Amino acid sequence: MTKPLVAITGASSGIGAATARAFSSAGHPLLLMARRLDRMQALGLPDALCKQVDVTNRDAIASAITEAEGLYGPVDCLFNNAGIARLGDIAAQSPEEWDETIDINIKGAMNALHPVINSMKQRRTGTIVNMSSIAGRKVYPDHTVYCGSKFFVHAVSESLRGYLAPFDVRVIVISPGIIETEVLDHVTDPNTLKAYKDNKVRIGGGISADHVADMVLFAYQMPQNVLIQEMVVTPTRQEF
Ligand code: NDP
Repeated sequence: MTKPLVAITGASSGIGAATARAFSSAGHPLLLMARRLDRMQALGLPDALCKQVDVTNRDAIASAITEAEGLYGPVDCLFNNAGIARLGDIAAQSPEEWDETIDINIKGAMNALHPVINSMKQRRTGTIVNMSSIAGRKVYPDHTVYCGSKFFVHAVSESLRGYLAPFDVRVIVISPGIIETEVLDHVTDPNTLKAYKDNKVRIGGGISADHVADMVLFAYQMPQNVLIQEMVVTPTRQEF
């Protein structure tokens, strides 16, 4: 095994699964983490350790990473991607949905960072790709807590980028617009869902997760002294 280990959270569907396929095609061993183990195993990728991990469980992520590093060596790239989008009218939305968003998108993202930061710092190399959203730069109707969670990802990424730069560790943040995945499947507010779907139809649909995967791979494959700090990708017709 010559290529280094890449760890991906939220690898069971959408952008995470597409990125797993892209890095696997480029010859990397993988640690795939999500709650749906069967979906990761069904990808059928070689040299891929699939672990049933809930990102809200800090110990579960750490032990999956320890196990994968025992097989394939240190994590050279973390794609910190797992996330949910519980969009809805903020006054009508259940606070449990706020909690879930904060637990997964904010605390979960920190939980995945924790086990790799010190190792990358000590080895003086590594790449972290944090999944934000265009909703991590601008606010949208019914995205209140989701936007808050993704603005958090931006702030942490900027801070971490500065902290890790002297150690030649790269921190990249990727901010997609509308990508065709399962991310909206759990929205419970019918008005929010209708508005989102109508807008998607109006702009001719979202774009494939494979394009996001290609961008993550491209940024990773640049030489270690080249850092693409931020990437924003949307369908061409998504004006805002
Ligand atoms: P999907 O719903 O297709 O994928 C989400 C992934 O996150 C799944 O693999 C899911 O796995 C995982 N996940 C969710 N909760 C947890 C958890 N508690 N523990 C572990 N894994 C979890 O959506 P996307 O691929 O679109 O979403 C990936 C990321 O991209 C998210 O952070 C999302 O916010 C972001 N994004 C998506 C956009 C879009 O338009 N699609 C736009 C901008 C950003 P499982 O359920 O098996 O645990």
